[in-house]
Amino acid sequence: MSDVQTETHEFSAEVGRLLDLVVHALYSDREIFLRELVANAADATDRRRFEALTAPALALPPDASVRIVPDKAARTILIADAGVGMDKGELAANLGTIARSGTRRFGDAAAAAKPEEKVSLIGQFGVGFYSAFMVANRVEVTSCRAGSEEAWTWASDGAGAFTLTPATRDAPGTDVLLHIKADAEEFLEPIRLQTIVRKWADHITVPITVATEGEDKPANEGTALWRKPKAEVTAEQYKEFYRHLGQYDEPWATLHWRAEGALEYSALLFVPGARPFEAVEGVRESRVRLHVRRMFITDEAGLLPPWLRFVQGVVDTEDLPLNVSREMLQATPVLARIRKAVTNRVLGELKTRAKDADDFAKLWENFGAVLKEGVWEDAEHRTELAGLMRFRSSAQDGWTGLDGYVERMKPEQDAIYILTGDNADALSRSPQLEGFKARDVEVLLLTDPVDTFWPERLAEWGGKPIRSVTQGGIDLSKLPVTAEPEGEAADMDKLLPALKAALGTAVGEVRATDRLVDSAVVLAAAGFGPDLQMQRLMRRHGQAGLGLPPALEVNPRHPLIRSLSKQLEAGTDLTDTAHTLLDLARVQDGEMPSDPAAFARRVTAALAA
Ligand code: ADP
Ligand code: MG
Repeated sequence: MSDVQTETHEFSAEVGRLLDLVVHALYSDREIFLRELVANAADATDRRRFEALTAPALALPPDASVRIVPDKAARTILIADAGVGMDKGELAANLGTIARSGTRRFGDAAAAAKPEEKVSLIGQFGVGFYSAFMVANRVEVTSCRAGSEEAWTWASDGAGAFTLTPATRDAPGTDVLLHIKADAEEFLEPIRLQTIVRKWADHITVPITVATEGEDKPANEGTALWRKPKAEVTAEQYKEFYRHLGQYDEPWATLHWRAEGALEYSALLFVPGARPFEAVEGVRESRVRLHVRRMFITDEAGLLPPWLRFVQGVVDTEDLPLNVSREMLQATPVLARIRKAVTNRVLGELKTRAKDADDFAKLWENFGAVLKEGVWEDAEHRTELAGLMRFRSSAQDGWTGLDGYVERMKPEQDAIYILTGDNADALSRSPQLEGFKARDVEVLLLTDPVDTFWPERLAEWGGKPIRSVTQGGIDLSKLPVTAEPEGEAADMDKLLPALKAALGTAVGEVRATDRLVDSAVVLAAAGFGPDLQMQRLMRRHGQAGLGLPPALEVNPRHPLIRSLSKQLEAGTDLTDTAHTLLDLARVQDGEMPSDPAAFARRVTAALAA
């Protein structure tokens, strides 16, 4: 091997930092290096099996396993697999940059953590390939991509750079060779390695062996945990498996069951107790893993609908052939039936647990926004899901559901009222609510982006229409006020037309309202069109002009309005005032004045007067 062929590459800057963190963060949890490397080897084996479905030439050798070979004399540990392998480009990209969002998140979290917290962080996160440098001062990865003959060795001492050198390997797969540090010699003991495998990798279905006195001895049980009867699984095993799925919180729910009869499958599903970023903001598809007779097939089978994408776990069935292809996964009725059954089971669990309000609130705070997507897009489950929705309300602290709201409705009240915006605190103080508060009418406060959409689809609950308080045409006059409004109502006959004339087409209408108590003006959407939040959203997405111009509603009892009425009688020109009022109404709803500079000019002039 000549030096001419060896290429030296710098690590990307973030890899350098992460390496540092991983290597120095912790001493006592170092054994997880083996978990990480064995998991990578097993993933690579699974990936090759899947690729071979469409490219039979890539088929795995029948005895494919992950071999762990410690060598005391050479002070090395070899972890070898027959998986997909990596070509030269993949070695550089996968091992030289941070490819994975999880690894990056570990880096971010570790950078933010106090020194004493770093210790537990490393156990919590998957830290990936770089954990090898906790026990090794040099790592050599020799790999041959399945389908290719070429092999390359990636090597690094974990300090800034790595090299790539042409190599040979008999068959596709990857050898990870660790040159063990002097203070990590304990890991050269086969017994120690076996214990670690049993602890961390017992549920991996690819056989794992540890070479002991020259002989490969099986180290993992390889029984898929989800296939065991519930009674035989310990809490610790569930927890380990949950970690294996990349989750490090306490699950809110653990569902483990076996279906027999028309459909045969085992399922082990978890509803996380914390909100993983990916499950909410990332891919919209469920990543529940599909296995066929233990073998991992894919995590892209869409086993649960997108509104349950936060659920993690495994479904393992007898009813599909092992060589099921992607096309077949799309089309097979078996999978459609399994999807339906699994979805109903999870939904059933949510409904049962919803009876305990405090318990259910924990789920709702993490995943309520995701579940609400189902009310919008899933006609089949809309009603069930709507019954699970929880809201903040103008009338009480904590969460309420639609059923609770309907029970508390006033006898004269004929609609369910909602107010949608970006922030519950701001909403609870919105002038839009004044008339409702004065009549002791409860309003649900909605703050998730999806809240702009589902109310129209659901339309009603318990026979009561759902109405946005910013939609025009809400008549509160039937409902008695709890306290008589203060002050006399000004005569609006001249003022309203004068304001409308001054504002022109900026508003559809200027009208008197009984919705206000403390505020002078408020905006309402025109007629029964999209409510104000929906119009704001459309404007943000460049769809201005879709809604009709709003109505400006005026409080005839407000001192300012009374004063304006008098000024008008006295012949004062109210053009500037009318525009300032409209802009104030916008600002109250958290919007910008339509022309901020003109607004500032008018307010300055008014203050100076
Ligand atoms: P993760 O496994 O979460 O993606 P790692 O840091 O453990 O993160 O590994 C980075 C990448 O390197 C993997 O995604 C994979 O593409 C590649 N890789 C690591 N080990 C192997 C292996 N034994 N065989 C094939 N590819 C591997
Ligand atoms: Mg990994």
